[in-house]
Amino acid sequence: MTGTLATETIEEAAAALSRRALLLGAATAGTLLVLAGADAAVPAQTAPAVPRVTTRNAGRRFRAYVQSAGQSNLETLRLLPIQPRQVVIRTEAYAPCYTQVSQGGDLLPPLTGGIFGTLPPELGGPLPGSAPPANAPSPNIEGHLGVGIVEEVGPQVQRLQPGDRVIVGVTSHCGNCYMCLQDRPDQCLMTFGAAFAPIAERLDGTPIGAALGIGGASELMVTDEEYCVPVFSSLSPAELSLLGDTAATGFAAPLSLMHVQAGSDVVILGAGAIGLAAIQAAKLVGAAQIIVSEPVSHRRERALKLGATTVLDPNALGNGLVERVHELTKGPTERVFAGGRRSNPGPRENRGADFVIEAVGVCTRRPKVEMPPDPSGILPMQQAFEMARRAGSVMFLGFGMHGNVSFNANRFANQGRILYSGQQGGLAFKRDIPRFIKLVEAGKLDLKSLITATFTLEQYGDALQYLVDRTGVCPVVQFA
Ligand SMILES: [Zn+2]
Ligand SMILES: [Zn+2]
Repeated sequence: MTGTLATETIEEAAAALSRRALLLGAATAGTLLVLAGADAAVPAQTAPAVPRVTTRNAGRRFRAYVQSAGQSNLETLRLLPIQPRQVVIRTEAYAPCYTQVSQGGDLLPPLTGGIFGTLPPELGGPLPGSAPPANAPSPNIEGHLGVGIVEEVGPQVQRLQPGDRVIVGVTSHCGNCYMCLQDRPDQCLMTFGAAFAPIAERLDGTPIGAALGIGGASELMVTDEEYCVPVFSSLSPAELSLLGDTAATGFAAPLSLMHVQAGSDVVILGAGAIGLAAIQAAKLVGAAQIIVSEPVSHRRERALKLGATTVLDPNALGNGLVERVHELTKGPTERVFAGGRRSNPGPRENRGADFVIEAVGVCTRRPKVEMPPDPSGILPMQQAFEMARRAGSVMFLGFGMHGNVSFNANRFANQGRILYSGQQGGLAFKRDIPRFIKLVEAGKLDLKSLITATFTLEQYGDALQYLVDRTGVCPVVQFA
């Protein structure tokens, strides 16, 4: 898969491939067709796969953390030619999220049942003990977000140009697929699977992919433009990197899909990176109460600083947690026809929060701080449902949970609660990131206080351990 093509013939070659052939090829992404010399004349109608264009970065060496057979090592790789819709990005900052902990390989103690191990193959698997998913080449570069400078774009890229600073997010937003056209770009069908073809190779020629078609723990990223938003801001790359995943999820939860109302009572379970961002967004829209449940004491303190009106310790309250929320949201009167709230259980009971955001998820490794009451992540989902009032809204943001959730069937069926599940809290990536940046620039949302440690690429393992320890909030890997 080597070969070069003079710049002036790249465009000719790309033009020779009809749009239809490229779309057909996308269905079989993973097979290489390198346009090189005479190969560039392959008839469009018979093109078997997404073609590649050899450009000036092909063959460029860079370093990346590569996960392979349970091991993770910093390796030197060689970039492959890119696909027409891809961009080459020089990484400036990368903020690993907790899901990355299951991908630490030998950087961290072995896991049984890691988070990605619970996903079906099409969402990035592999299942424990099984072969890697067919569409995700193993080995691959770790990560699924980043911030950097565009160095090169494929001939079909429309929104980006070299020199742009971009946020690469975990959720694509193509604008053209069935889900984007249903106004649910958080479910964009490009996400998790469109770009699993190798992007690089080892010096011995072994092909290397990028996790989820994105990567991040790497000096260079190659991804489709649908995962990128150009940003025009003086915010630091470290701050912006949080908008690739965690903080964008937290901001989106109250703002993008379930539309938290001013004057409402909001409960947020979990005050990690996502929960702390959600608190800020709930405050921004004028929530009257922001009640936060979080087992880790330093995170409860951070929650209060960022806008929580009450913090609760789920370990201390145990089974009384839900009742405590009902107490806090009982309102000034029980007189039903004076707009009052009735206690639970009983006729006309309607206590509970207007909006509940569950931002807990699984806890796969013992933290240095307080343990959550249920590491599987199921209990807070059930509590979130019970904490919402009749016809209240509940959003689930956790990830990697182990098991099934059960709700009281009658309450579930008849009491009107609206349940939201959304990739990244319902984020519309291209629409929302620019407005979140404006709000950060205006001082209405705060990313800086979520960054509690920075690391170099060589210290990537320490950054993952920092996530496990939970002694802070967000680690950011910064590149020179
Ligand atoms: Zn993530
Ligand atoms: Zn889409």
